[in-house]
Parts: sequence; C-alpha cells; structure tokens
Amino acid sequence: MSPHGGSGVGVGAGVGPGGFGAGVPVPPPGVNPLAPPQVGPGPMAPPAGLVARNVWDRPVPLPRDRAWWTGATFTPLPAPGHFRGRSRTNPVVVPGLPPHQGVQPLSARERAWVREPVLRPVLLAGLDDPRQLAERAQLREGILVTRAGRQPPPGQECSECRRGVGRLVFAQCISGGLGQKCNNCLYRGHVRCSFQG
Ligand SMILES: [Zn+2]
Ligand SMILES: [Zn+2]
Repeated sequence: MSPHGGSGVGVGAGVGPGGFGAGVPVPPPGVNPLAPPQVGPGPMAPPAGLVARNVWDRPVPLPRDRAWWTGATFTPLPAPGHFRGRSRTNPVVVPGLPPHQGVQPLSARERAWVREPVLRPVLLAGLDDPRQLAERAQLREGILVTRAGRQPPPGQECSECRRGVGRLVFAQCISGGLGQKCNNCLYRGHVRCSFQG
C-alpha cells in the first residue's frame, strides 16, 4: 500500500554485479555489525574508569503521530501542596503524565518519548509552580525522558547536575538519548548540557 515501496533501503554504492554482500566481510557470531568498532583508547574513549556514553545510553526514539500520543495514559495532577517543600534528598513522585493542556504545542520530543517503556518513577526535587507540569513543554519532555531514558552510571551525571547549581527540577540526571540534553537541562532550556553531542 505504501507509495514509496521498500526500495532504496540498504542498497547503495559498493553493490556490484557480484550481488549484494559480495566482498563484504561477515562479522563473527555474537558481534553486532552496527556497533562502533572497538579500536582501543582514542579521542572518543572516556577517561579510565568511566563507562562510554554509547554503552549506557540509548538512541533517541522517533517522533510519532498524534494518534500515538492520544493512546498514552494520562494522570490528573494532585493538589499543588503535594509538591511543596521538596529537594533532591526529599523528592516527591510525579503520579503520571498530566493530560496535554494545549498551552504549548505538542513537541517532537513529547511525541517521541510518550509511549516508550517506563523504567522508573519520576522524582521531583523542586518546582515553584506544579501547574507547569501540565502546561510547559520542556517540563513535560523532562517527565517523559525521566521515566523512559537511561540513567548515567554513578559519577557520570551531566556537569550541571553534578554541580547542583541553579534549578534542578528532577532528583536524578536522566539522558534524553545519545547526543541530547538530560532531563534537568531540558527544563532549563538555555543551559548547555555536557550530554549534548
Ligand atoms: Zn543532568
Ligand atoms: Zn544536563
């Protein structure tokens, strides 16, 4: 039914009259041909003792259409007092993703992350106005990334979360995917996150 068919995928330069795959080395069993080559320490290798980003993080999911969004589960927010007096050492769980209020348009990041498998509860460390959870796109993105993104190994949080300065809304630093900001830096918008590629 697709007008585009399936042509073009996987076919490119280097495929000669010998047929697809001719002359292409076959990786040994157990080796992922899509994984980057392991060539020892180089400019991309982390300092000794640190886990490489592409080992602990995940790629960014693709944005889906609006129908994908409407199939998500939404949870009305509790009263504002529920969120008061919180800190990184005394966080509160966000009960779920509040329904989209339409104050800001649905972002591509929201459509990408909304139905990714939930890995953890969203721990809120502090927020002046909890109504932002339903209204502000960056905060909704932060919720989605927090519950489904990958958590860096201990000590490898982004530099902003490690320094702990400024407004850290979420109690944990969670990555928005390879090359992307973490949840807290997403909320702060203008801040450059050390997770960005
Ligand atoms: Zn962070
Ligand atoms: Zn960050």
